[in-house]
Amino acid sequence: MLIYNLAIHSYLGCDSLALLPKANTLSKEKNINNADDTIKDQILASIDSFIYTKDLSGKYTYANQAVLDLFEKNLADVIGFDDTHFFDLALSKQLKANDRMVMDQVIRIENEESNFIRAKNETRIFKVVKKPLFDHLGNVNGICGISTDITVEKQLQEQVNEQSYLLETMLNNIDAHIYVKDCERTFLYVNNRVAELFGDKAENIIGKKDTDILPKEIAEHFYQSDKQVFETNQKQVIEETTHGENGDNCHYISTKVPFDRPDKLPALIGFSTDVTELFKLKEEFKLLANTDPLTNLYNRRFFIEQAEKEYQRAKRYSLSMTLISIDIDHFKSINDQFGHPAGDQVLIEIAKQLKASLRQTDILARIGGEEFSILLPETSAMSAMTFAERIKEEQSRLIITGDWQGEINLSVSIGVSSLIASDKAFDVLFSRADKALYQAKNTGRNTVCYL
Ligand code: GH3
Ligand code: MG
Ligand code: MG
Repeated sequence: MLIYNLAIHSYLGCDSLALLPKANTLSKEKNINNADDTIKDQILASIDSFIYTKDLSGKYTYANQAVLDLFEKNLADVIGFDDTHFFDLALSKQLKANDRMVMDQVIRIENEESNFIRAKNETRIFKVVKKPLFDHLGNVNGICGISTDITVEKQLQEQVNEQSYLLETMLNNIDAHIYVKDCERTFLYVNNRVAELFGDKAENIIGKKDTDILPKEIAEHFYQSDKQVFETNQKQVIEETTHGENGDNCHYISTKVPFDRPDKLPALIGFSTDVTELFKLKEEFKLLANTDPLTNLYNRRFFIEQAEKEYQRAKRYSLSMTLISIDIDHFKSINDQFGHPAGDQVLIEIAKQLKASLRQTDILARIGGEEFSILLPETSAMSAMTFAERIKEEQSRLIITGDWQGEINLSVSIGVSSLIASDKAFDVLFSRADKALYQAKNTGRNTVCYL
């Protein structure tokens, strides 16, 4: 019974010296009635923890039911026997070392032990609390221990550690910016890529709001798409652009998914991939696809595309719009006389001169071989005619020289047409300007005609 009390007191973490059995307490112990003993027996038997006491030589003086179950022994086969009978001590090194430490240094220890249990033929991990026991003179006469099997917890912890290592490694080595942010704009997680981008350590960013870290404008820009996630509670895929101080833009494809956490502020997980290089390539391809390689003007395809849009806008808002078609006169004879490369050079020079006379909103394109078109949005027929006459004059004054004998000068014929209410499509305007050009050719070239 005395041992039981000590064990329970030890378990509760009371100071062991305070538990020294005194002579008068010994006599009191005898007086504890049987009912009391039964309750204590039941408590100790039903505790999942392993409770035991050993004498100085390491022989068991008490073991609760959990210990007996672990050793698969009866009480009689445990009491009086030491740990060599129950553990493989070669594989359970901490067990003896801990016992010795408690008795030699007279201290309470809390430790972990990895013990190989003979009966189970396996190693199990225990959290142990061990304290010295004293005789009535205050000398250490044994040890009292409470061990808890934490094998499953340890295995789970190991799994969690392994998984978080794996996750951390992936998150920090993936070519994407990954972050978790709550609806009050506080970063809950950032991976190394985000930290590098923001120029600080991840631990300095986590816990701060985007407005504490980023320039106000950029933070606001990101927050606009964050807000969509919180408002819809739906995944959002967004193209984002940041404008650098040196004028460099960065482009990101961001996927933001809601991250609902019970009893916590709603949050989102964001994955942003830097697609700047891809974006630039796309822009280059777009430009290439829209450009005539010889003159660097827009090509026919792009011109028609833009003209269709302008046509729709002009129709919707009842705006004026005029189209100018230009064709070089007798261009074939320039090729014939000076050679094809000279003809190419002429096209380049004409393109340059036309480009120089444009307003910001005008759209100039090389429509075909030696044909050009200019779309003049919000321009009346009258001012377009003045413009066309000016072009005709400028082109006729153009003198082109190069790696060939002599100078090239030329003239152009121009057809002009303006959008009228009955036009049902841009095509109608386009072919009317063509007809006007045809008329200019027929009336002796170097002329501007309007239809
Ligand atoms: P017109 O006054 O009736 O317009 O006569 P033209 O000789 O200008 O017209 P035509 O349609 O008979 O000939 C156009 C010429 O333009 C024929 C073609 O070889 C030439 N051409 C078309 N594209 C190019 C080019 O990219 N480079 C060069 N050098 N010539 C081109
Ligand atoms: Mg032609
Ligand atoms: Mg021609």
